[in-house]
Amino acid sequence: MLYHSTRGLDQPKNFSEVLHSGLAGDGGLFVPEFIPKLNKETINQWKNLSYEKLAVEIISLFSGDCFTKSELTEIVYESYSGFHHKVKSPLIKLENNHYFLELFHGPTLAFKDFAMQVIAKMFAKSLRKKNLNINIITATSGDTGSAAVEAFKSVSNVNLYVLYPHERISQIQRKQMTTSNAKNVKVFAVQGTFDDCQSIVKGLFANKALVSDVNLSGVNSINWVRILVQIIYYFSAFYQLKDLSEEKLSFCVPTGNFGDAYAGYIAKKMGLPIKKIIVATNKNDILDRVFKTGVYKCNKVSKTVSPSMDIQVASNFERLLFDLFNGDASEVKKLMNNLSDKGGFSLDKKILSLMEKEFVSGAVTDEDTLATINKFYSKRDIILCPHSAIGVRVAQKFLGAGDTIVSLGTAHPAKFKETVESALNMSISMPSVLKDIMKKQESVEVILPSKDLVAEEIRKNI
Ligand SMILES: *Cc1c(COP(=O)(O)O)cnc(C)c1O
Repeated sequence: MLYHSTRGLDQPKNFSEVLHSGLAGDGGLFVPEFIPKLNKETINQWKNLSYEKLAVEIISLFSGDCFTKSELTEIVYESYSGFHHKVKSPLIKLENNHYFLELFHGPTLAFKDFAMQVIAKMFAKSLRKKNLNINIITATSGDTGSAAVEAFKSVSNVNLYVLYPHERISQIQRKQMTTSNAKNVKVFAVQGTFDDCQSIVKGLFANKALVSDVNLSGVNSINWVRILVQIIYYFSAFYQLKDLSEEKLSFCVPTGNFGDAYAGYIAKKMGLPIKKIIVATNKNDILDRVFKTGVYKCNKVSKTVSPSMDIQVASNFERLLFDLFNGDASEVKKLMNNLSDKGGFSLDKKILSLMEKEFVSGAVTDEDTLATINKFYSKRDIILCPHSAIGVRVAQKFLGAGDTIVSLGTAHPAKFKETVESALNMSISMPSVLKDIMKKQESVEVILPSKDLVAEEIRKNI
């Protein structure tokens, strides 16, 4: 399997190169040359597989000869051994026709653990084989950073640099990143937004000399392997639903960088019977607007009670565009130039109608987010994190007509303790992993949003 850049100017790459490079050399994102299509028999045959076995089947469709099946098996079992739930992604019922996929039973209590654990084990294996050292840079709205610190802190051959927006993440998210005490991890609080952090990362990848001097790599959802590993739990959710009538299942996905929702779209393209991907946003509603109007226009980032979704430039949307334009990279490049020069672009009716076939969307205010947390606690004794509450709330607007909706539970409520407690007007209990980090010493450097500063810091360490 080969991978192409969405902007068409980079050479095709194999899986190993895509794993290690993150962003393509021309500023684009890597996409597989085709999406393997599964027939009904295959999908049916997988229904009783364990999460790990299912993961091996799905990953091996995309990973070429980079890892043998037994290596993949080892990677996957190690990756999920630290999860606190035997099913890994258990599905619970919320209300009639509405289910909730709990993706927060990993070590840092957000869905980011699913892919980050696997990527770290893949890096460890392939770097050992190649005897290579690399530097990984990642921008985070909170949860990617903590998952990456946890996954990479024990991987020799890797230095990890994390950029998060200063004072725009929860206290627990910050503590999870800054208390690892790992020699190979450096955390920066950038005086700006997540978009500033992401733009520093993209800027560093544009610096060809730096990329090759330090073997720079990225583990944001711009890395294809993140997307790939997130496809698995859509299948897992499908298999956990009983007596489902075909073509009546939709997934509702709380969205920031459009990675998770895009993974659901790929699951659909692979043949999983999904009717719609429902895209849920907070006040930073660029994706809700583009799916409704075809106009992709960046506003200023607003701070909300769902900080992991406080993003305007949804990087993975570029991958969807590539698909909508039938792989015409020149069209994608034109739109991306408009985005950087003019702050936006509009899509014509034909493209908009293609999007409408696959996606619907909704946005939720902070007020409604808090009210939803409150309602599900009083009605069902279920405590939702603010991001998950946004998904659940948007899904409710599309319930009816006998369709089934699975809303993705993207993080554990305790990660957003302050917000959840204010919504419920009571204190909530903390899992013991979080209690421990509250007492630990933090290590973090506050910096201006400057890519040169970060580049210097990375060079210093090699
Ligand atoms: C990262 C994250 C999101 C957004 O996911 P994307 O893949 O960036 O769209 C939503 N909720 C939580 C809790 C997250 O950590």
